[in-house]
Amino acid sequence: MLSAEVARLRTVLPQYINTYWSKSVCYAILATAPHKKRTMAVSVSLPRSLKFRMTLVVILLVLVATMIVTWVALLLAERDMKAVIGDQQFALLSSSAAQLDAQLNAKKLLLASLAEAVPQSAGASAAGMLEFVRQHPIARREFRNLALYNRQGDLLHTQGDAIATLDAPARLRAYLDQVRAGGKAVVSPPFKSFLTGAAAVVIMQPVTDADGRTTMLLGGSLDLADSSMLEQVAGQRSGKTGYSFIFTKDGVVVQHPDRSLLLGNLTERANPNLATRRALAGFEGWTEAVGKDGTLSIYSYKRLQGADWIVGARYPVAEAFAPMIAMRHQGMIAAAVFAAVAGFMTWLAICAMLRPLNLLRQHIGEIRNGSAEIAVLQRSRPDEIGELSGAFHQLMAEREAAQQAIRDSEALISSILERAPDAFVSCAADGAITNWNAAAERTFGWRRADVLGRDIAELIVPPAMRGAHQAGMRAFGEGNMGRLMNARVRISAVHRDGHEVPVELSLGSIRHAGEYYATAFLHDITERLAFEAQLTQLARIDPLTGIANRLCFEETLQQAVLRARRNRVPLALAYLDIDRFKAINDSLGHAAGDQVLCEFAARLGANVRAADTVARIAGDEFVIIFEQVGQADEAARLADKIVAAIRAPFTVAGSPRQVTTSIGIALLDGDDLTPAALVARADAALYQAKHQGRDGYALAP
Ligand code: GH3
Ligand code: MG
Repeated sequence: MLSAEVARLRTVLPQYINTYWSKSVCYAILATAPHKKRTMAVSVSLPRSLKFRMTLVVILLVLVATMIVTWVALLLAERDMKAVIGDQQFALLSSSAAQLDAQLNAKKLLLASLAEAVPQSAGASAAGMLEFVRQHPIARREFRNLALYNRQGDLLHTQGDAIATLDAPARLRAYLDQVRAGGKAVVSPPFKSFLTGAAAVVIMQPVTDADGRTTMLLGGSLDLADSSMLEQVAGQRSGKTGYSFIFTKDGVVVQHPDRSLLLGNLTERANPNLATRRALAGFEGWTEAVGKDGTLSIYSYKRLQGADWIVGARYPVAEAFAPMIAMRHQGMIAAAVFAAVAGFMTWLAICAMLRPLNLLRQHIGEIRNGSAEIAVLQRSRPDEIGELSGAFHQLMAEREAAQQAIRDSEALISSILERAPDAFVSCAADGAITNWNAAAERTFGWRRADVLGRDIAELIVPPAMRGAHQAGMRAFGEGNMGRLMNARVRISAVHRDGHEVPVELSLGSIRHAGEYYATAFLHDITERLAFEAQLTQLARIDPLTGIANRLCFEETLQQAVLRARRNRVPLALAYLDIDRFKAINDSLGHAAGDQVLCEFAARLGANVRAADTVARIAGDEFVIIFEQVGQADEAARLADKIVAAIRAPFTVAGSPRQVTTSIGIALLDGDDLTPAALVARADAALYQAKHQGRDGYALAP
């Protein structure tokens, strides 16, 4: 749209476009076209401050506004001025045309009076014709040549030129018909004189006899290139480059500053301009058109009365409007200066108005670097900057409160973690330790300052577990902790001294400043494991005598039987029961009974090998597992030895007391007996020993 407008203006005002538009407006068009590379370069190099952009906008707006106003004012002035110039030019042309008409009429009248004076005999001889011309010297002044024709138009006598040179016979006939029919002088179409070779016309007047019949034709010729009458018209020119011209209603050029155009036909030229076409069609007045040389001009046309001629004038607009164009330049320069001044004033005004905003920015910077308190933002101003300052103050206050809450929360969490009984360790995805509390220092021996930033794997992960640890850290880095997350597992960690620390591990993750960290609570379970072991041990010991109980016996027997079968070594099981123990209880009391039970157990322990197991399995019932006892007689010997060891008097409640025992012995030799069956056999043998009178042993068969 804009480029079309520029193109139009380019045609209309080439000079102006070349000097002003091409340097400023067209450059501005380039600078605002968003897709041009050049635009990018321009916009990148421009400062981006609000002040600069606001000033630029003001300059552009003022420039555009003043240019539009100037442009419109000048356009209106030009339109009016054009009308004035056009009317003026047409009036001038009309007066030239009237003068030309008057001169043509004068020549016609002269020719008519000469025709009346021509003797009929003049046509008979050339001498008569010459004599006639000599008697009328005025005819020689007014016409280049005089000639007589007969009624048919054949030349009778001439001084030289003749209408017979008219290029086409048809045109000649038509012209003669017109002369004869009208009975008065008529101007001929232009033709090339064979006398001078120049363009010429003839005015022909019928010569009548006494009866009024046309007997001859009298013609007076005019040289178009050398006619004072036409030169007067040519002299009527506007400005330096304007000129006048004459052509016939058929388009034949009668007069033109460019002599080469004379006798040429305008209708035969390629693309005659619009004004010419209109003039040939009958238009009279002034109009605007682009000439063949491409310049816009004001054209005026006026038709003559005395000939089929059209008088025209051309005045190039560029010259006609030269002062206007100069004014336009000045107007545009004034607009630019006005815009520059407005921009400068705007810059000063904006700087002044934005000063509080700069101050606000400065305060915020000072608050951020800690050199000012947020109270500096509480300055009350009754404008938008005051509101902005207030809003910033509120925002900063909220931000400080939120930061304090976060700091409090972090302090609380740090305090909790620091006092936690369990070791708390966190690390980044690459294993670098980021947190290490006091319990971790106690558990693993490393000081916090020594471990921060180091790889957790190097410090507390035992070498055997590093593969699994690295796989877990990779999974964590990929955001997948799987089943380990929030689970509790027992693992071994390594103390600074090198010994392994059994720990219960609870894994988790935490997000801080956009990064995920793995967290671990490590509960040292060394003591718990020892306690559990102790409990397990206690569950296998008879609390009264301190020897193995039934549970321990059953487990030990199970293992011993398996070992005996594997090693192909026999095993003997002795089942013992104190004789008449109830009587001791009944006579001396339960405590004395307990005393007997303790002494009994001690004697059994003292009379077996370290590898053998002594256990109390109920009230006064005891068992002994003899491992690697191959023969029955060896078992009998062992039983006998024990029976004898018990016979030695016990000291019960301060007094000696005879205690005896009965023993049933069963041997395991082969794979057919289960532990329970072995016990049953020993029990049966015991029953037999009791039955045999007690204080002795019996061997299971
Ligand atoms: P026998 O010769 O047939 O074995 O006669 P006995 O009196 O020993 O009879 P039995 O073995 O059946 O009696 C066991 C007694 O042991 C019964 C019970 O009161 C007593 N007793 C069981 N446990 C304890 C204990 O822990 N302390 C004491 N003092 N007595 C117990
Ligand atoms: Mg008993």
